[in-house]
Amino acid sequence: MPEFALLWGKHATLEDLIVGILLRNGDIVTAEKRWRGDIRCRGGRIVELAEALDAGSEDEVLDASGHLVFPGGVDPHVHMQLPVAGTVSSDDFESGTAAALAGGTTTIVDFVHPERGESFLAALAARREEASKAVADYGLHMAVTWWGEETARWMADCVHQEGIPSFKLYMAYKETVGLEDAQLIHALEAAHNLDARVLVHAEHGDMVEHLRSRLAAAGSLGPEAHPRSRPPELEGEATSRMTILAELAGASVYIVHVTCRQAAEALAKAQDSGWEIYGETCPQYLLLDESVYEKPDFEAASFVIAPPIRPAEHQEALWEALRTGVLQVVATDHCPFNLEGQKELGRNDFRRIPGGAAGVEHRLALLYSYGVKKGRIELQQFVDLVSTRPAQLFGLYPRKGSISIGADADLVLWDPEATGTISASTHHHNCDRSIFEGFSVTGLPSTVVAAGRVQYKDGDLRVERGAGRYLARSLSA
Ligand SMILES: [Zn+2]
Repeated sequence: MPEFALLWGKHATLEDLIVGILLRNGDIVTAEKRWRGDIRCRGGRIVELAEALDAGSEDEVLDASGHLVFPGGVDPHVHMQLPVAGTVSSDDFESGTAAALAGGTTTIVDFVHPERGESFLAALAARREEASKAVADYGLHMAVTWWGEETARWMADCVHQEGIPSFKLYMAYKETVGLEDAQLIHALEAAHNLDARVLVHAEHGDMVEHLRSRLAAAGSLGPEAHPRSRPPELEGEATSRMTILAELAGASVYIVHVTCRQAAEALAKAQDSGWEIYGETCPQYLLLDESVYEKPDFEAASFVIAPPIRPAEHQEALWEALRTGVLQVVATDHCPFNLEGQKELGRNDFRRIPGGAAGVEHRLALLYSYGVKKGRIELQQFVDLVSTRPAQLFGLYPRKGSISIGADADLVLWDPEATGTISASTHHHNCDRSIFEGFSVTGLPSTVVAAGRVQYKDGDLRVERGAGRYLARSLSA
């Protein structure tokens, strides 16, 4: 390589041109094991693991003393720059992935939502353009928003050509992205034929629409009507129905944002019968209760998300479902809207409030503080819930979700004693409200390494627009 010799002298190799990091004295925690040691990263990958490594020509040595070291978080359920109800979620791929990195999440998986009549690959190309400014690595799930003659073929193209082995189905929102049962069945069968995984938003869409109209007609137009239009029974029913349809179609299903006892019970029942079915919940459902909809001055609109925040008794059912393995993943469903100018679109009618809230930055801190620290889940299970399992379920493992030779150098140095208070005034989300405003946390990332570079350190983001890479995923080992 004469060019390098000219530039770097005759002993230089390609490796010398690649940024290196040596992480020392780590209390390294993965889903499988925990050990003390050093990690060498070169060229964006983990290249050496040992109890003690000598410093080489690394650009940076990180002392992890007093810290835990986790594989970077993987959030498989986020919506950057998503059009909803006449507006667009307020984090784009740049601000959203930057916020993710600041919280220890180094990989996201977002979605493609084709318009009805639009080809999936055309929608994918447009979405990849929007995502190209991401600062962290990302994948995309394809939402099957309509069913036509060519849909099954497009799904095959997604799996075989585009690195998309996962499809989202909506049982609600039938006017825009949701499917009728007959179409759901086609999509489940197509997924089965492709060995793909299906993510499902499970609510009884027709009844939700009926209740929304009935509440509005009766003059209930404020945000407090939102939870009444989407009771937990409708989530339980849809979850149960989907488990049965999925089993008969032979599809592997992952229910997103499980919020309530009824849905957790439906999942447990299907799992007991031996079917491969997975479930996700989110911090807002573990930590907030329905009283948020009583907040005055339209502040309640910030909590309009679907499914809604449930009465407090459901929280324990969700923690129990995490403990027992009925739920395998904690994601965020990050989909922020400002109260001013966005949520306000529904000031006179809750049906026009764009549904969604910010969360991608705080998933690890909240689950660590309120799960691990409170003794509700074990430390290694925490790593599994926020990183390893989502990586495995969506075809990213072991490149993501592991600390192993050859894996991407995505590492979180976690200070278990650091404390903080979540607030919209300090978060990195592009959003004027936080649904976790005032929540105190113990345990925060102090340094985040992604793609082999220090991208967050002591409150300082060092990200580069467009540095995030599209992740082609595969479920076939
Ligand atoms: Zn979502």
